[in-house]
Amino acid sequence: MNVRDSEHMIAELNTKEPYELTEELGDADLIIINTCSVREKPVSKLFSEIGVFNKYKKDSAKIGVAGCTASHLGKDIIKRAPAVDFVLGARNISKITKVIEEKHAVEIDINHDDSSYAFGEYRTNPFKSMVNISMGCDKSCTYCIVPATRGDEVSIPSDLIVGEIAKAVKTGAKEVMLLGQNVNNYGKHFTANDEKLNFTGLLQKISKIEGLERIRFTSPHPLHMDDEFLEEFANNPKICKQIHVPLQSGSTSLLKAMKRGYSKEWFLNRCEKIRRLCPQATISTDIIVGFPNESEEDFEDTMDVLEKVRFEQLFSFKYSPRPHTVAAEFEEQIPNEIAGARLTKLQVRHTEILDEVMNAQMGRVHKVYFDELKAGGKISGRSDDGKLFFVEGSEELLGEIVDVKVTKVSRGALEGVVCN
Ligand code: SAH
Ligand code: SF4
Repeated sequence: MNVRDSEHMIAELNTKEPYELTEELGDADLIIINTCSVREKPVSKLFSEIGVFNKYKKDSAKIGVAGCTASHLGKDIIKRAPAVDFVLGARNISKITKVIEEKHAVEIDINHDDSSYAFGEYRTNPFKSMVNISMGCDKSCTYCIVPATRGDEVSIPSDLIVGEIAKAVKTGAKEVMLLGQNVNNYGKHFTANDEKLNFTGLLQKISKIEGLERIRFTSPHPLHMDDEFLEEFANNPKICKQIHVPLQSGSTSLLKAMKRGYSKEWFLNRCEKIRRLCPQATISTDIIVGFPNESEEDFEDTMDVLEKVRFEQLFSFKYSPRPHTVAAEFEEQIPNEIAGARLTKLQVRHTEILDEVMNAQMGRVHKVYFDELKAGGKISGRSDDGKLFFVEGSEELLGEIVDVKVTKVSRGALEGVVCN
């Protein structure tokens, strides 16, 4: 989502003045640090980065802090780091051209509604586009700072979404990634019109766009994975067979304390249904260990879900207490060593599962969409189920979807040869 917000800022800036991206700090006229605040670590990194940028930048260059940490710390960022020229919250991206004109502007209104705003065009990768379908989040997971930094959930009108994707397709993108904190809650809150369309309906509408070949989305919420949605996922040939099902914890009592709205049984039932309807699909997940009060038994429930679902991809984190969250006030915080040991156990077991999953790929054929040239005469792309591929090849494969046979496997990526 932050990558897309950065693209939006570049697109907006370009509507006023042509900007060029640079890798050289000393060449930059404008430096924007787009921040995350989901866990504490990136927040603490921010101030040391500002210091480095301030030391090596041109005298006239401006520094701006954008994103979720901007929303949550606001003008305190300028108090602590006066070198910062402006602060732009995650919900206020469209105001980028305004804040660069003012000294010490702070725009962090989490109720600001950009849902019917048409941004300029800019994509990092010409072959793939990212399109927001909603902003904010209507949940209140007790560990999570996002509702406080991105505000209430608002769905973007479907015609605007379809228009954005159609524009991207015309300029070479065969694939779209639909973005939102809870994509499958789409349609619950519109501000700009009285549309009645849910996520399944949106997927069907988007699939009609001619020239669009692949649809991905992130993140769906397990609670909203109804049968209709899972059947659409399994049966719509344009939808890539890769789905993120964020678990957070395998313990029903912890899920309750997290206010996730589902149980361990519901989660397992949804994953079984995905495996049954669509055996070729890969399932990824997010897991937090060391949430307050997590007992050995709770953690074993998480390990049990890992064994049963055998997630192809795992994003796992030690619980990090965040300001403006309910769980930060819970008394039973888990000692760091215990949380660390659980995280290691979870990751080690997942690595074993991943090795088995990847080894089984040897000799298989996948449809790969090539989107990036690499050094050494290689080209990279992703299979429909989201696996990263490296193949010997050049420009003529860019933007093409071709059959590739796996010839070498590793944990993070596959190598293969194009089938003729
Ligand atoms: N809307 C998405 C999550 C966005 S945040 C969803 O509900 O799945 C991305 C991930 O960061 C979460 O899934 C969670 O695993 C992790 N996360 C959020 N808050 C956290 C915290 N306080 N400590 C550790 N991990 C956290
Ligand atoms: Fe955070 Fe929960 Fe909203 Fe995801 S659904 S962004 S974890 S509050």
